[in-house]
Amino acid sequence: MQRAAPQLIALLTVALVAVGMVMGYRISERSGLSDLAAVASERLELYASNLETELARYAYLPSLIAIDEDVQALLDDPHNAQVQQRARLKLARVNVRAGSILIFVTAADGEALAASNGYQRHGGNVPGGRTPLPEAARNLPEDAADFFASNEADGTTDYYFVHPVRRSGTYRGHIVVKVSLAPLEATWVDLGLRSQSEKLLVVDQNDVVIMSSVPAWKYRMLGSVNVEALQSSGRYVGATLAPLGMSVEGESGSGSTVVRLADVQSAGHSLHLAQERPVVPLAVRLVTLSDPADVWRQARYAAWGGGAAGGVLGLLALYWLHRRRAIRQLFKARNALQQAHDQLERQVDERTRELRNTNDELKRQIAQRLQAEDELMQAGKLAALGQMSAGISHEINQPLTALRALSRNTMLLLQSGRTQTVADNLKLIDDMAERMGRITLQLKSFARKGGSLAQPVRLASAVENVLVLLEHRLRAERIEVSKAVPGDWQVLADINRLEQVLLNLFTNALDAMANTPDKRLEIDARHEGGRVVVRVADSGEGMPAEHLDRLFEPFFTTKPAGQGLGLGLVISSKIVREFGGTLRAERGEHGMVFEFDLELEGAAPQRSTDPDKEAYV
Ligand code: ADP
Repeated sequence: MQRAAPQLIALLTVALVAVGMVMGYRISERSGLSDLAAVASERLELYASNLETELARYAYLPSLIAIDEDVQALLDDPHNAQVQQRARLKLARVNVRAGSILIFVTAADGEALAASNGYQRHGGNVPGGRTPLPEAARNLPEDAADFFASNEADGTTDYYFVHPVRRSGTYRGHIVVKVSLAPLEATWVDLGLRSQSEKLLVVDQNDVVIMSSVPAWKYRMLGSVNVEALQSSGRYVGATLAPLGMSVEGESGSGSTVVRLADVQSAGHSLHLAQERPVVPLAVRLVTLSDPADVWRQARYAAWGGGAAGGVLGLLALYWLHRRRAIRQLFKARNALQQAHDQLERQVDERTRELRNTNDELKRQIAQRLQAEDELMQAGKLAALGQMSAGISHEINQPLTALRALSRNTMLLLQSGRTQTVADNLKLIDDMAERMGRITLQLKSFARKGGSLAQPVRLASAVENVLVLLEHRLRAERIEVSKAVPGDWQVLADINRLEQVLLNLFTNALDAMANTPDKRLEIDARHEGGRVVVRVADSGEGMPAEHLDRLFEPFFTTKPAGQGLGLGLVISSKIVREFGGTLRAERGEHGMVFEFDLELEGAAPQRSTDPDKEAYV
């Protein structure tokens, strides 16, 4: 249906062009013909009034002549030569003054008695007495009326006023005045020549053209009347009375008709618009033939105009159809876009929801992991404590045994009164108790769960605390500890966790040195780029290069089962990272070197510290 629409519109356009052409032609033709008819009608009025005015100038003349006494006398005494003479002269004078062509008087028998041209019925010896009268005017019957007739001399048209004369009710004869219409006709011919588009015909009651603006049409017949009868009437002298060859083609409205006129010269024909107006008093009708060529030319233009208008209408319809389709497609595309957009939004919503869920899950896992790490760290710490427990208990048992021996010894000394030695012993006891108290205090604080909140911590104290915990081992294994940590350096960390890192590094170092004869543990700190780098080096066996990469892997250990978990370095590295630093390992000259950095709290130190060397022998 949609595909068929443009073809339908194209057909419609063709139809509209055709209808537009026909309509344009018809409307223009009708309007043009109507205008032409209106102009012709006005002209007819003018011609009719010209003719009537021309004849009206003479209308009074016959009745005036009828009451003239010389004419009366002639009718009373037609054979009196003198009377005839007077009447003839009178008629001649009146004729000259009135400007008519001929005036004559007839007797009741129709025969002329006297005329202005010298004719005289019984005047054989009168000069001009035998001048003939027009054939049309001979033997006029009693009821004769005015009439047109051809001029025998030159073929122009004359008009005869016929006035009956009666006396006491008795018919006595006629007064006849003949006037020429040649001047009027000449103006018409002149007009006709100037106005090519319009021709005038005066047609009498016999359908004969008696006057015309086209001389060739004169005395041609419109109808088909008995030509011989007409010719014998004497009114169309010398005329052949051939048919004009005019036939009606059709009505054009406004009382006019379209007629076809045969052209004698070209043997063709032409079409004219005929308009008619009767002039009743003169018993004739005036006919104008207008050339509608201009009208039809205009109508042809109008047809093209109408066709163009139809075409434009069709194209507009086509444009409208295209536009409607384009808008529909636009709507469709917009809907599709909207749908795609909605779908995308739904997908984004779904994805966001999934991401949020994943995120929540991740958060939960992180929290779990953090907790696990916390627990792991604590476990690592406790494991370290467990490993140290044997040494520590030995460390405490030793002073306890000494304390017991000393206290017994002191009691004996007290009995023997050696007070000075008692006092020395008590001082020793006090020292030992304080030493045990320090160890247990360290154990307690080390076992405590630390936090990740960084705060200023004295680095030397942390190192010292851890060495206290390991003191028994250091001594038992005869380790030489070299310590170069400035006493006033403070780092940002949690002391508990920092000690956990140090304990792990020191323990690993001691383990590594278990089988080496020369046992040295070096602990120092240096300032580097606003941070403090803590270094722990040992003179142990070190480790092969291939193990270095795995050092910070969870559960990597080279120690026998029950001694190592492989978590110490993992946990230490994590703790250092929490305080913004990194734990690194490298092979040293003899053993391993571990380093980590921490943020220095306060002003940067300028001096270097000489290492304290301590041999636990
Ligand atoms: P553990 O001590 O429980 O084995 P760690 O993570 O602390 O776990 O250490 C992992 C391993 O790294 C040790 O088993 C050891 O082989 C090696 N290691 C650590 N420190 C040193 C060191 N100072 N010298 C030689 N090897 C070391």
